[in-house]
Amino acid sequence: MEKNLIVNFHEHHVDKEADITVLLPVGKDNSLKARQMAKENPSKIIPFHYVDVNNPMDDELRQLKRGVERWGVKSVKFQPMDQHIYPSDKKLYPIYEYCEKMGLVVTWHAGVVDLGHKYEQGVPMLSKYCDPIHIDEVAFDFPDMNICIAHLGGNYMYTALVLAEKHENVFLDTAFLCFFGPRFFPPATPSALITHAVNVAGEDKILYGGEGVTPKDVLDADITDEAKIKILGMNAVKLLGLQGIASGGNDKKNGTFLEL
Ligand SMILES: [Zn+2]
Repeated sequence: MEKNLIVNFHEHHVDKEADITVLLPVGKDNSLKARQMAKENPSKIIPFHYVDVNNPMDDELRQLKRGVERWGVKSVKFQPMDQHIYPSDKKLYPIYEYCEKMGLVVTWHAGVVDLGHKYEQGVPMLSKYCDPIHIDEVAFDFPDMNICIAHLGGNYMYTALVLAEKHENVFLDTAFLCFFGPRFFPPATPSALITHAVNVAGEDKILYGGEGVTPKDVLDADITDEAKIKILGMNAVKLLGLQGIASGGNDKKNGTFLEL
C-alpha cells in the first residue's frame, strides 16, 4: 500500500506516528489538558470531553457545549468501571440529546482491564459496568447518535460485534487489543481480531485505535486495501467531520499522505 492517512481514534497521549490523534481524557484534569493541547495543535489533535457523571448533568452539559463551541471538542468519553454507571442510565440522556443534535460521537470504554489494579482511589473497578450490552438500548433511543465501543468490546467482543452488526450507529475501535487478544481462547493477534470484526460488522464500522496496537496490525489483517484505508483513517474522518483537516495543506490529498 502507498500512502495512508492515519487517525488514531483512541489514545491517551499524542501519537507521533499518526497524522491525527484523538485524545480520550480520563478525569476532569485530563479533559482540560486535552483541550489545551488541541488548541495549540488543532490539525493534529482532536479532544474528547470526559463526562463527570457525579457532577449535576446540567453543569456537565454546559461544560460540554463550551468545549464544542470554543475548543474543538468532537465527542464525549465515558469510563464506566470506575464511574459506576450504565450507558442506559436516563440521567445521561440530556448529554446524548445534545450529542445527537451536534453530531458528536459517544465513546464508551468496554472490557475489563487493569486486572492487578482493582481499586481506583478506593473505588472498586466493577466489571459489570464494562459490558457493552447496555449500549443496545441507547442505540435504539438515539438512532442518529454515533456510538463507539472501545477495544472491540474487549473481553465482551462478541456482544460488541452483535451491536455493531445490528445498529447502523454503533462503531468499534481497535485500541489495546494486544492486551485482550492473548486472553481469548484460542488466543488471537490484533490483526486476526480486526479481520474477524470486519467480517462480522463491516469495514465501515471499525476505527483504528492505538494503545499498543499499530497501523501494521491493520495492514496485516486479512482484509482488502480499501478496508485498511478506511480503518486507518477514513472512517474516523467521516465520523468526526475532519474532511477539512484531512485534505488541508501541502501534499494531503484525498486523505492519503503518509508513507507506511
Ligand atoms: Zn484507552
